[in-house]
Amino acid sequence: NGMDTLQPLETTISDKERFRDSVPLELSCPNCITKFAFGGIVASRYYRCVYSGIQCSNCDHIMTPIQVTSQVERVIRAHISLYYAGWVTCDDTTCGNVTRQISVYGKRCLMDGCTGIMSYKYSDKQLYNQMLYFQSLFDLQKNKLQTLKPLYHSGDKNEPEKPLSNSEVQALAEQNRPLFETSKQVVQKYLSDCGRAYVDMGSIFDFMQT
Ligand SMILES: [Zn+2]
Ligand SMILES: [Zn+2]
Repeated sequence: NGMDTLQPLETTISDKERFRDSVPLELSCPNCITKFAFGGIVASRYYRCVYSGIQCSNCDHIMTPIQVTSQVERVIRAHISLYYAGWVTCDDTTCGNVTRQISVYGKRCLMDGCTGIMSYKYSDKQLYNQMLYFQSLFDLQKNKLQTLKPLYHSGDKNEPEKPLSNSEVQALAEQNRPLFETSKQVVQKYLSDCGRAYVDMGSIFDFMQT
């Protein structure tokens, strides 16, 4: 499909760069309701990967696989809804018109006297990258190679004290293989659907751009 042809071009870009604009995967502990950004098998002040899953650092609850996958699915669906809501925004910063209306005039902003161009606020490319980012978090190979997009910049107040050792990461990746593979499949399912939609929405987007 259309997605496969995009991938080879993109493999030369690091995840840090490719996912620069992707938002973190926010999970919530079902026991204490603490929210935290999940960044794969990496050091965090909010969670730790243990041999039996993802453990909340606040209350020590270890999330069951279904507690992880159902949240991943919910987050993905929220992103897809946002995309399908079809918000378009005016590129003229002095106008800032944001609307769901895709007018018969296509790209032209309908605010009185504005010469701005309307484009999708949440583009198909952004949604696609966002899904790839979620998928990368559960990619055992990327976890083992420690090439995931970092959760924190150095100097962030939430930055963990020290990174996990390479041997810890290797062991945890293998111990959590079923959880990570199931979660990755959840993302993959939506990514395939999104790939088909990308083709459809892409043609509408082209219309908006020309
Ligand atoms: Zn908790
Ligand atoms: Zn405008």
